[in-house]
Amino acid sequence: EKYQADELRYENGMKFKRCGRSGVLLPKLSLGFWHNFGGVDDYGRSREITHYAFDKGVTHFDLANNYGPPYGSAEETLGRLMDDSFRPYRDELFISTKAGYDMWPGPYGNWGSRKYLISSLDQSLKRMRLEYVDLFYSHRYDPDTPLEETLQALVDIVRSGKALYIGISRWPLHALKVAIKYLREHDTPLLIYQGRLNLMDKSPLEEGIIDECSREGIGFISFSPLAQGLLTDRYLNGIPFDSRMTRGKFLRKEMLTDDVLARIRHLNEMAARRRETLAEMALSWILSHDAVTSVLVGASSTEQLEKNLKCIDAGPFTDDMLDAM
Ligand code: NDP
Repeated sequence: EKYQADELRYENGMKFKRCGRSGVLLPKLSLGFWHNFGGVDDYGRSREITHYAFDKGVTHFDLANNYGPPYGSAEETLGRLMDDSFRPYRDELFISTKAGYDMWPGPYGNWGSRKYLISSLDQSLKRMRLEYVDLFYSHRYDPDTPLEETLQALVDIVRSGKALYIGISRWPLHALKVAIKYLREHDTPLLIYQGRLNLMDKSPLEEGIIDECSREGIGFISFSPLAQGLLTDRYLNGIPFDSRMTRGKFLRKEMLTDDVLARIRHLNEMAARRRETLAEMALSWILSHDAVTSVLVGASSTEQLEKNLKCIDAGPFTDDMLDAM
């Protein structure tokens, strides 16, 4: 039957945070389409997860050209969802997509050329049945394409009306600095940096990415904030048959070493002392950094989302706790 969004969707507890020095507010928890929205996944389930999310004020959905599998199919799912459910709410949604990884065969379906980025976004818009995206990302740094070519393509994409804002993901600090300057000088300020920050991987803090974003007024959104599910109760007692580690190819069994398991158990005990789930504590730790705009979670069920949303109201961390994390 027809989806009718919850009338109280902005009174259900979601908090919004300004994305750097911009006009955009993002929900503190956003939803990613990397897994669970592909052609291989159950559409009914994907639909249920997005309805639940939007009803709780999750206004930001994050995609990429090659999310699936197969490639392109997560965007096709979004297109179907637009027609089935979300068209009336288009202006309440902040939708992003990306290009930068392998998408189609040959030399023009990968990396950071103008040729690739512009044609990829055209394809993405068709699959998503959208006229424009709110945010378009360069998905990764390309060491072989002049940064100015990639950046000018992003500027031109905004000028053409196919995206409202520009982001970059996984660029090293030196290239981030070039991007901030170039985009500012071309009247298309960089909105946001997407990087992996979580309790297993603090490299954006260590490498100075977070400081740079904060100083320059750029938003920061953390992908894989739960380390693909490691920072939850999922793997505390073995590897469930329906988990990403069993089903997917990106979270490999070798990643669950004794050291990792010991760290997860330690963090789980800390969370229990806070009367929180590990997932909740892991997300609120990320959000406790002022420069972080949002955590970009994945979910294979509405129950997971429900648990993860609790991070919005989580308590503060004492210095002792932070030291022990
Ligand atoms: P997470 O670290 O949030 O992992 C999500 C997975 O963890 C779920 O699919 C689920 O796996 C498990 N999970 C989530 N919540 C719970 C819970 N409460 N209890 C138990 N298990 C839980 O994020 P992702 O790795 O999915 O990444 C999120 C988004 O970030 C992506 O969708 C994408 O948009 C973006 N991203 C961007 C990248 C980039 O290069 N820019 C790279 C990677 C991601 P299970 O299937 O086992 O239930």
